[in-house]
Amino acid sequence: MAEEMNPYERFVALAEHKDIDRIPSLNHLSSVTIPLMRKYNVKWPEAHFDPAMMTKLAEASWLDCKLEGMCVPFDLVVEAEPLGAVCDYHPDKILWPSCISRPEKWEPKDLKIPDDPQNQMRIPVICKALNMLHEKYYGKVPVVAYINCPYTSYSSYVGETTDVLIWCRTNPEKIHEMWDVLIDYYIDIANIFREAGADMITLREEGTSSDNMSPKHFRELIKPYLTEMIKRIKKPNLLHICGLTTPIIGDMIECGANMISFEERTKTTEGDEERNKKCAELGIPRYPIGGNLSAFGLLKEGPAERVNGAVRRLLQQGIDFTMPGCDWYIEIPIEHMCEFVNSTIQYSPEAISKFIKR
Ligand SMILES: [Zn+2]
Repeated sequence: MAEEMNPYERFVALAEHKDIDRIPSLNHLSSVTIPLMRKYNVKWPEAHFDPAMMTKLAEASWLDCKLEGMCVPFDLVVEAEPLGAVCDYHPDKILWPSCISRPEKWEPKDLKIPDDPQNQMRIPVICKALNMLHEKYYGKVPVVAYINCPYTSYSSYVGETTDVLIWCRTNPEKIHEMWDVLIDYYIDIANIFREAGADMITLREEGTSSDNMSPKHFRELIKPYLTEMIKRIKKPNLLHICGLTTPIIGDMIECGANMISFEERTKTTEGDEERNKKCAELGIPRYPIGGNLSAFGLLKEGPAERVNGAVRRLLQQGIDFTMPGCDWYIEIPIEHMCEFVNSTIQYSPEAISKFIKR
């Protein structure tokens, strides 16, 4: 058995496709919940604007449950705001920020792209929080930042969603134009987060699952650009797409990130089959995949015994790191979060991940 690793060492080994001592619950999305906000007396929306509060919320799931990693920001509108999206942070209740208006001229050719993303809106706040987390945890626990990638960010918060969806079929040139206009800006933000202290970038491109677009469109309109982003963002990085991804898992792997994650719509066993096929084609022995338990139906609803059983099954199916299928749902009780992490450790010896050194 490999020597016991700390969470940072385990993360680095997995990212480099090397042996690990056991399966980690690798936190690479948002793990902020209302029970944690209450416990640490920090809440949304204030924590979106204050680096010290942001840091406190990001580390809460590590401090309380030993979830391996801390991740900022906590929402998906960071990149879209400097492009003209206006958001409601819901000052009176705890909710994800939502977009209330888009730039008047939202076609790619009309967008004004800031040439100093490091100074834009909340990006300095996130960088400061990453500095603080890096100071405290470098070499011990991985610090992760995520970005919402151009297609999902643009189609959800900048352009008119329906029009952008229709472009995929009727005017794909517009999608290529959108990428040409936006790709550098998003790559810059990711690299700014890396420089500020993030050990890894999660690229979220969640609007591109096979629920939303055909695998053919994914291959033509998304994959080449994700591949370019991954090449130009300092490694390591992780590609996350939720929704159904079985038909595109091989393509996700080919995008070139160090690892991928998906949600419960993609069955782990099917994912594993696709992964093995792609590894054989690429001539690589193994590739890490993570996920994929239901954040609401299982982790929020519980009870703890059910969480324990589901984690056990997941590990027996060959997952390489455990996480909910997407962000932790904000009403998940702390006990369920802890049970999730503890069962990952409990069943790791019987896991069939190809990364565990026996
Ligand atoms: Zn997701």
